[in-house]
Amino acid sequence: MPLHITIWNEDSLQETHENVLKVYPKGLNGALAAIFEDKSDCVVRTACLCEQDGGLPEELLADTDVLIWWGHCKHGQVPDEVVSRVQDHVLRGMGLIVLHSGHESKIFQRLMGTKCSLRWHENNDKERIFAIEPHHPILRGIPAWFELEAEEMYGERFDIPAPDQLLAIGWYESGDVFRSLCTFSRGYGKIVYFQPGHETLPSYHNEYVKKIIGNAARWAARNRELDRELHSEFAPALEEKKD
Ligand code: ZN
Repeated sequence: MPLHITIWNEDSLQETHENVLKVYPKGLNGALAAIFEDKSDCVVRTACLCEQDGGLPEELLADTDVLIWWGHCKHGQVPDEVVSRVQDHVLRGMGLIVLHSGHESKIFQRLMGTKCSLRWHENNDKERIFAIEPHHPILRGIPAWFELEAEEMYGERFDIPAPDQLLAIGWYESGDVFRSLCTFSRGYGKIVYFQPGHETLPSYHNEYVKKIIGNAARWAARNRELDRELHSEFAPALEEKKD
């Protein structure tokens, strides 16, 4: 059964700033979708905030195994009902990958229960990312460490609950460090936070960043077979609760 991946961005291609288009001519959604373009077992759809239902209607989420989220300036414009709908799907098993500045999105804050704030500066620091749990499926094919020539510095303290698994640490030439790749579970859903991806820097062209996102999508994706079993077992209770 193919993996159904939905990639969401706050901007449509038309809304994307020219400085972003210089690095990503097809926008961030296009760059992230390209990670999966040679994977015949993946069905990728892209969505953005300006579309109906914030780009994430019920039917699309119900058909999404993993949702990849990139947002920055428009967190406050995401309607609360969209946030609740995504949360509901995560709790029922949909995977969620939150990238870069999505750390302060309403959905990530809702699922973490904290502000998810961090320290940052934009000095185009070199970043070295250390893969500290090499046995984990998300780090398959990733060396002990790799470098990004320039990234926005995200530094501790990152106001998140202790992750289920801390998979990678970022170090910057400014001397800062950051928990750059973390996993969480909420309800039946798996959540991944991954730090690289400032919109005017080419991190989504880096082979290891792309590999991590590809691996993360497979790891976090909902298990449809398990889902069917769970739903048949718990569906009456869930329906009752809704009324
Ligand atoms: Zn940024």
